[in-house]
Amino acid sequence: MSKIQNELQAEVDKRRTFAIISHPDAGKTTLTEKLLLFGGAIRLAGSVKARKASKHATSDWMEIEKQRGISVTSSVMQFDYKGHRINILDTPGHQDFSEDTYRTLTAADSAVMLIDVAKGVEAQTIKLFQVCAKRGIPIFTFINKLDREGRSPFDLMEEIEQVLGIRSVPMNWPIGSGRDLCGVYDRMKNQVELFNGEDHSTIEVKKVDDYNDPVIREMAGEYLHDQLCQDLELLDVAGDPFDLDKVLKGELTPVFFGSAVNNFGVQTFLENFLQLAPKPEPRSSTEGMIEPTNERFTGYVFKIQANMNPAHRDRLAFLRIVSGKFERGMSVRHIRAGKDIKLSQPQQFLAQDRDIIQEAYPGDIVGLFDPGIFRIGDSLSQGGEVIFNELPTFSPELFAKVTVKNALKHKQYQKGVDQLTEEGTIQVFRTINFDDMILGVVGQLQFEVFEYRMKAEYGVEVQLQRMPYQFARWLVDDKVDASKFRINSTLVKDKKDNYVVLFENEYAMRTAVDKNPTAQFLETAP
Ligand code: GDP
Repeated sequence: MSKIQNELQAEVDKRRTFAIISHPDAGKTTLTEKLLLFGGAIRLAGSVKARKASKHATSDWMEIEKQRGISVTSSVMQFDYKGHRINILDTPGHQDFSEDTYRTLTAADSAVMLIDVAKGVEAQTIKLFQVCAKRGIPIFTFINKLDREGRSPFDLMEEIEQVLGIRSVPMNWPIGSGRDLCGVYDRMKNQVELFNGEDHSTIEVKKVDDYNDPVIREMAGEYLHDQLCQDLELLDVAGDPFDLDKVLKGELTPVFFGSAVNNFGVQTFLENFLQLAPKPEPRSSTEGMIEPTNERFTGYVFKIQANMNPAHRDRLAFLRIVSGKFERGMSVRHIRAGKDIKLSQPQQFLAQDRDIIQEAYPGDIVGLFDPGIFRIGDSLSQGGEVIFNELPTFSPELFAKVTVKNALKHKQYQKGVDQLTEEGTIQVFRTINFDDMILGVVGQLQFEVFEYRMKAEYGVEVQLQRMPYQFARWLVDDKVDASKFRINSTLVKDKKDNYVVLFENEYAMRTAVDKNPTAQFLETAP
């Protein structure tokens, strides 16, 4: 191996890039903060929350965040822990998430699924899980808020299997719960971690022979120990054994119990995760799989964010590095544009600020200053014409008709629509006859962001009128006949003039599919 390959291998080996998926309030901010604290990336707990709050001030279109107290955009945090370099991709935590959330997941090599012990698998967790499951990435489960009264662990495991369709293997098991929480038993290491309810800062770890060890009985009392033994005997007999192969294929999720706010079980979780989670994975491209240790630098843009800094009305393109070494100032091929560009102002996202970075490796995310040359899905490569096919568009589920309040603003309006579709803020469709414009999104929030940004950045006031459609299907047919799609449906065209049928309900969609056996109805653009 050449020197650069050795260097790449070492850097790839130590990296882990993942996203935390959860429903709002499950404790994602709290967990992220604890993880960053272990890495020393932030000095004080509370900084992530503070950043969440102060971010509002740094960007005007994010007024929406302020108004609604939510985080609209996702960012990236990087920290080091015991020889590892960890990239956490943050996903917006509101149920009005957007396509951005989905796309961010394509940049992750694994996911941590955070579940509230009392609430179990919630709506947003299901959606995000499905996107991860489609890619087949490994999913690690952290069941949070063990210090509160919650549901039985067996009950939660069953729900994970029933609702998400994935088997689970508990890596540790709670001893008691809520006010009676005594600790957790680590099934892999045969040790107990004690939860000190009085003073949460000291958590004792005790090595034991197995779960029958009288030491546990002494600490937890007869009742809790009997319960623990019963549960674990059952798991030993009827539960799935740990199988790393299945974990890596996304067929089995290792489950950890803990309490993020008390920092209980978080460090053990982190260490196990680092050991089991995959390092940066190869990505599929027009030239086959590109290995991260490939010497040629390649990457793709998975997200574009506007106006993070109101002083410069810049856009920032988020690039996931797939292979090779990134060096500041390097020249790379912008494949779609067909020209070479210099990457001179890269930003890295730390817990606090944007820093200028000098170099980065596969698995890392860099922010590129974007004067308007990037689109979501763009591939960059050092020589050659590698194109990554990582970024699916998602089938919109909510639709609205747009009208411009002031017809004289048509030019700005068109410019705004073009840019916002490029950024992936919305998808647009046109009706066949009247040339009306219809927006398609996956989350209500995208409408609000569109409305807000059209006004704030392009000076155009738009009016959105919700339409009753729920599904979009790209129509591939020799002869397209609009008259076939009039009942509970309508025929429109996308930006590239592909035909798309919008349906009001599943019944209408199924009927259309049945009645047009020669046509194809695709979930996303062909
Ligand atoms: P997010 O919306 O998922 O980012 O959730 P946050 O991290 O903001 O947490 C939501 C609420 O749950 C906050 O009030 C946290 O203090 C609380 N919380 C987080 N982890 C725990 C935990 O382990 N136990 C308890 N009791 N509360 C927690």
